[in-house]
Amino acid sequence: MANLLRAGLVKQEAVAAAMRKVDRGWFVPQGRAAYDDAPQPIGYNVTVSAPHMHAIMLEILAPYILQRHQLNEGFRVLDVGSGSGYLTAVLAALCEAAMPRWQVVGVEHVKELAEQSATVLKQHTPAWMQSRQVCILQGDGRDPAPTLREHGLMAEGDAGQHQFDLIHVGAAAESIPSPLVELLKNGGCMVIPVGAQHETQQLLVCRKDGQGAVTVTKDCLVSFVPLTSLAFQRRNR
Ligand code: SAH
Repeated sequence: MANLLRAGLVKQEAVAAAMRKVDRGWFVPQGRAAYDDAPQPIGYNVTVSAPHMHAIMLEILAPYILQRHQLNEGFRVLDVGSGSGYLTAVLAALCEAAMPRWQVVGVEHVKELAEQSATVLKQHTPAWMQSRQVCILQGDGRDPAPTLREHGLMAEGDAGQHQFDLIHVGAAAESIPSPLVELLKNGGCMVIPVGAQHETQQLLVCRKDGQGAVTVTKDCLVSFVPLTSLAFQRRNR
């Protein structure tokens, strides 16, 4: 944490506080260097991202959470490819510190990872899980609406528009999936790595204005595992 602050990667005090509250060691397999600034394997051909990468994502997303301070409407965050559950928990910590009514939903397609992350969260943050303020769902994050409906987090028959204030995508897509753009509320923001598999990707920031118009800006170059099918992920050892 001190290194991230010194390097200027964490600038906002609220981000530092949320990262301090959630121990990366809870989510990283034993024997792995949980506190090094490097991605760590969590099985199933994927990694928990490096702390500096989480910091970059959080610095972009945090202002949206902080500016909702004192607003009494529910604020919803979607974490696509929630993997270890670490970032899902940090996003929850940011929301909790900023406002009373919020929910963070992680969608992960590997059943074992979804279960494992839910177990860790139940152990360390039981109140969030009991209240369903934090939910981890197993499903395809490229089009999460059916999974959200299945778990009662979106009404049956709802077209799946304007559901989330923020969307974090923790895996690289070849292009921006339109179902995710549809899920974004007006005034919301999505961060998503986009690029060809096995190449460096561009972190894109998609902002929807109050009228629903989307603008996309480029942030830094990044390297994420692909947002893909389970079959491809298994093959791609
Ligand atoms: N933020 C997570 C990132 C994990 S790596 C963390 O730091 O732990 C990316 C995750 O995306 C992996 O767990 C992978 O299984 C998941 N993933 C890849 N494609 C997916 C898809 N189509 N739907 C849901 N999850 C997916």
